[in-house]
Amino acid sequence: MFAALAAIALGAVVGASTPWLVHRLAVESGSPPRSACAVCTRPFPRGLPGWIRPDARCPGCGARLGSRTGYLAALDAAVFGPLTAALGAAVFGLLTAALGTDTGIDPALPAVLAVAAVGLPLAFVDLTCLRLPDPLVALAAVAALLGLTGAALVLGTPDPLVRALLAALASGVAYVLLALLPGARLGFGDVKLAAVLGLPLGWYGWPTLLLGLVLPHLINGTVALALLLTRRASRGTPLPFGPALLTGALLAILFEG
Ligand SMILES: [Zn+2]
Repeated sequence: MFAALAAIALGAVVGASTPWLVHRLAVESGSPPRSACAVCTRPFPRGLPGWIRPDARCPGCGARLGSRTGYLAALDAAVFGPLTAALGAAVFGLLTAALGTDTGIDPALPAVLAVAAVGLPLAFVDLTCLRLPDPLVALAAVAALLGLTGAALVLGTPDPLVRALLAALASGVAYVLLALLPGARLGFGDVKLAAVLGLPLGWYGWPTLLLGLVLPHLINGTVALALLLTRRASRGTPLPFGPALLTGALLAILFEG
């Protein structure tokens, strides 16, 4: 119970920090992250204070710097922070509750929460500009590898870690093949994220990986159909796949983990 409450609080902080990361990282492919305020032109602080901020306000002038483009265009900047904070709290709380055991906490929980923490900005950057920035995907990979290695040491067996690595490879290969199909809408960022998500999915077993690989297509198919039916999108409208990949992995671990 205490663990779940602590996780909810941590998730709320992580979620509240998400809009700022999205503002800095949701840029055109090949462009550097935003480094100065568009309102007062002052540069953002260097190092962690420039990246981890509890709200999306400029540290210089206090202007609210939301990324109101792409699929988030209709989202008011004042709603974005509370929305991501609530989402972070819910994701962290659900994962901690689902992965708790009778004897304590799943040793892989820190790895799963770390991937979820990076997954939040990844999903919203993708919704904003249809990109999954490499630094965030790499951060998720490092967090998953370190966390799962630690969990394997705690458990005293390398088996789930080996399975996680094989699952990442299998997931990456499967998504490369899907991306190469004619008419595929998957980008290479999606392939890389799918491989990284294969790590925690594979840790929990092959059925979890399979579910985590299939669910994103059902989710994106449902969203695409809803957008078509409500005439918010046409057949050619590009849809981000990262949010579906992350949601699918989350649901697979909640159901099967
Ligand atoms: Zn400013």
